[in-house]
Amino acid sequence: MNQKTPTQLANHIYKKTTNSLMAHSIKAVENFILEEREVYSMDKNKNTIKAFPVPISIIKTDRITRKASLKLEFTKKNILLRAVIFIKKSLSHNETRVLIAHELAHLLLDGLHSKTPGFFQIENVSKEADCDEFAEVLCQLHHKFYENRSNIENYCLFQN
Ligand SMILES: [Zn+2]
Repeated sequence: MNQKTPTQLANHIYKKTTNSLMAHSIKAVENFILEEREVYSMDKNKNTIKAFPVPISIIKTDRITRKASLKLEFTKKNILLRAVIFIKKSLSHNETRVLIAHELAHLLLDGLHSKTPGFFQIENVSKEADCDEFAEVLCQLHHKFYENRSNIENYCLFQN
């Protein structure tokens, strides 16, 4: 990468932030999984597995047939290593956000139903209707948050 001034770098990163839809929700799910894992690894003295985060990435592509899909990677011992949400490139921001929320629900619900607590195995049990419900509620909560001007002032705007 070419040498950039701090201002050029800030502009470059800012451009990426506007393309990072649902970033707070993704981070919250990563934190949730890590907390679950930490609780689990503290509970069991035998077979203690060191808690490590599961990064969730978003990849926009036209190489998928469905609008969105979730791909999970595991270690040889079937421990969840990372999650990738593929989203079709051509979708609107609105649809992209709802679909990201829907795929996050698959990850959460499958993980919470795993036979071993703490997301170490994923059971493929999540139902489409449940994931739609999760996405609708989560997106509505975001909508209500942004509708409230004082939230914008407290959380989004900077004091000069
Ligand atoms: Zn689904």
